[in-house]
Order: sequence, then C-alpha cells, then structure tokens
Amino acid sequence: MNSKKNTILVIEDEPPLRKLHTITLEGRGFKVVDCEKGAEGVRLAASVKPELIILDLGLPDMDGKDVIKQIRDWSQTPIIVCSVRSEDDEIIQAFDLGANDYVTKPFNPEVLVARVTAQLRKSVTEETGDTELVNGNIRMDLLRHEVFLNGEKVMFTPKEYDLLRYFMVHRGKMLTHKQILKDVWGPAHGDNMQYLRVYTSQLREKLEAVQGNHSYIVTEPGIGYRMEVVTIKDADQAAGAA
Ligand code: CA
Repeated sequence: MNSKKNTILVIEDEPPLRKLHTITLEGRGFKVVDCEKGAEGVRLAASVKPELIILDLGLPDMDGKDVIKQIRDWSQTPIIVCSVRSEDDEIIQAFDLGANDYVTKPFNPEVLVARVTAQLRKSVTEETGDTELVNGNIRMDLLRHEVFLNGEKVMFTPKEYDLLRYFMVHRGKMLTHKQILKDVWGPAHGDNMQYLRVYTSQLREKLEAVQGNHSYIVTEPGIGYRMEVVTIKDADQAAGAA
C-alpha cells in the first residue's frame, strides 16, 4: 500500500539540473515527475495533478511564461519559476501570469526546498485555513499527508486519503454523490457511483476499526454522504461503549 506523497512536477531542459532537483526533492520525501519540454509539462500537469510545479523559462519548444499561461487557464497549482533570467521585467511578467514564486539560477537547493515547503503550506492553508484537519479522534496532517486515528498513524491509500480529506474539509455538510465524485475523482467521473461506494466503505472500515462503532460518515439515502462533526468527548464515549 502506498501512502500519499506530495508530487512535484519539474519542467527543466538541462539534464544535470533535472537530476539535482530530483535528488534534492526525493531526499525530502517528495515524489518527482520531470520532463524537458513545455508542452509535455502542460500535459503532465493535467494528468499527474502535482501539488506543485517547478518551471524553467528557457525551454526548447516554448517559453516557460506560456506554460504558466496555459496551466493557469484551468489550474491554481503553485508554480515556482527557476530561471537564469534575472531582469525585473521577466520576473514581473511571470508573477503577473500567475507564478507564485521566482528563484534565479544558480540557486541553493536548500533555499528552493524552503520555497517549495512554504508554497505547499500556503496552498493547504488557503483551502482549509490550517495545515491540520481534526474531527473527533481523526487528525490529518496535510503537509506530510499523514492520518492519525486516536493518535496512531494509520496508512491510507492515495485515493482514500483524498476522499477522507474531502469529507474532513466539508464536515457537517451534506454532499451529493455527484459533487463528491466530481471533486475527488474529476469532472469525467460524476456518474461512477461504484467508486464512491467502494471507497466510502473502505474508509468506514478503517475509521471504525479504531473508533469503535461511532459513525463518522453518514449515508443520506438517495442523496449522498455527510461527515458528522464529532467532539472528542463524543468520540471517547463511543469508543468506550464499543
Ligand atoms: Ca533552460
């Protein structure tokens, strides 16, 4: 079973630099996907759905600024530009097009890692207001992609993690099947009810094994699901009663 890691897409045409990025980032527990051309980078951004993109501007097939423009048409994934271009104009244009940060080459890999971590922290807190989600005895560390049940780390597959995160972010709200499928699996999967049934039952199994018989994910017949907002006291009583 794979635990979920933050994936970084590196778009960089110089092989030694691609290697440096990969070694540095993998050493910090990130998963790295890389490519040398801009068009391929745009495709990978859509298919791999990385948590963050590191982008060179001088690419063999197109200017990196056009890569930013194309990705920003449909995605708000953080982009850190890493380029030899140090003119104010270039930097300003990159930011105006939607880059989140700009590092000039030559760069210190440790500084780049710090910038990556800062951007990831910012993008998780923008969505949730915090780097941690807590409901009853469930705690998710969104930066490290870890889940703790009753304080103990439990492994979730990447898709289980995404679904649990979605329920946690929207806890207390009624969520329709279609809405969950679209947001967690993507717009093309709005009707794949079976995915949702299978994964929800897997989540329930993992949650119940630790939580006793307290029900976190409630079925709303014919509509969808709702995650109950659980206070620690309720959760303890439920675990004690089980
Ligand atoms: Ca280059």
